[in-house]
Amino acid sequence: MIDTLGSADVVVIGAGIVGLAHAYEALERGLSVAVVEQGDRATGASVRNFGHACATGLDGDGLRYGTAARSRWAKLAAEAGFWLRRTGTVMVARAEDELAVLREFGEVRGERQVRLLSAAETRERVPLGEGVLGGAWLPEDMRVDPRECVPAIARHLAARGARFHWATTAHGVEPGLVRTSRGELRAGTVILATGHDIDRHFPELAAKAEVKRCVLRMLRVENPYGVTIDPAVQTGFSMARYGGFTACPSLPALRERLGRERPELVGIGLNLMFTQRPDGSLTIGDTHSYDTTPAPFEDEALDDAVLRETAALLGVERLTVLERWRGVYGSGAQSFLIEAPADGVRVVAVTAGVGMTTALGIAPEVFDGLVG
Ligand SMILES: Cc1cc2nc3c(=O)[nH]c(=O)nc-3n(C[C@H](O)[C@H](O)[C@H](O)COP(=O)(O)OP(=O)(O)OC[C@H]3O[C@@H](n4cnc5c(N)ncnc54)[C@H](O)[C@@H]3O)c2cc1C
Repeated sequence: MIDTLGSADVVVIGAGIVGLAHAYEALERGLSVAVVEQGDRATGASVRNFGHACATGLDGDGLRYGTAARSRWAKLAAEAGFWLRRTGTVMVARAEDELAVLREFGEVRGERQVRLLSAAETRERVPLGEGVLGGAWLPEDMRVDPRECVPAIARHLAARGARFHWATTAHGVEPGLVRTSRGELRAGTVILATGHDIDRHFPELAAKAEVKRCVLRMLRVENPYGVTIDPAVQTGFSMARYGGFTACPSLPALRERLGRERPELVGIGLNLMFTQRPDGSLTIGDTHSYDTTPAPFEDEALDDAVLRETAALLGVERLTVLERWRGVYGSGAQSFLIEAPADGVRVVAVTAGVGMTTALGIAPEVFDGLVG
């Protein structure tokens, strides 16, 4: 006889930030919730990232979700008691075209979202090396510590009555039912939030949305200055990657110059940025490579490039590495995959590197759609 794990109004598969956001939203709406997670804790993209809620740099749906997520992050941090900083992002300009992009971004978004900084003002906020021409402060962006907040949210939701089935793998999903390695769960609604593993359950949806696995290299280093660096710090490489900056007429020139002057860095998908952890150390990164089934072998040249470029940004000779890791997220033709493959079943995945920014803003819209 098949063990039964009981039933819930909402069964969420995956205890990363996307799954937790939906579990939270379900509880807020007075629904009963069960969460099925294959690990005995979350160890996916949601604990491996910068913890940067960077809505300002997004556009379209991402900007809408990221803006809606802000108040939920603040509420959850207060309720669950985790570290959250409303200290914004400093974008560092080290070339004239980067300055021009920031100026244009400021004109598009206005002073509430973008404050231009002189070189001296940029350095007041962040210790930096040579060649800084100026910058911009994006005051509405926030930061959390992913390693702390993801388990804290899970504990908080469990205390509010969500049932967590850890070390339990979902094998099959159908309307009203989730089959797992420990038995069956009856569900009013199923939310599949398995991150980059959509193709394991709905290969045709993953193929239609052109979802691949994006592999990133990340490192944690000692802070060479031993001071607090409150904002997240991003660079021209970030301007080239985030959708919000496509509104800036100077962006093509910036991209063209980076491709001409630093082809090896553009080739490895460098997004040169860092955030400080509560213990003072710096999370630095990152590189991007895309494949359906990524090779398991790591090229040391990627870490060398991240270390060299971060040291140059900070104006130090070398950095002391404390940890290294690989992160993976789903990457698709669009930044978000929200599908209804069957009645009462929703597949929700952030198919770009912005799930920490947006997940808490996506879940309310998914539930509004279910009710509607
Ligand atoms: C290195 C890196 C840096 C990033 N930086 C940022 C950032 O600063 N800001 C930002 O906004 N975004 C960032 N992102 C993106 C962000 O981390 C992701 O978009 C987000 O974490 C995805 O959340 P998720 O819950 O979908 O996936 P995950 O966190 O990967 O969670 C999916 C969960 O589903 C579980 N699961 C899978 N299959 C099953 C199954 N069959 N049964 C049960 N459980 C299952 C997995 O074990 C996993 O715990 C970054 C990503 C990476 C990798």
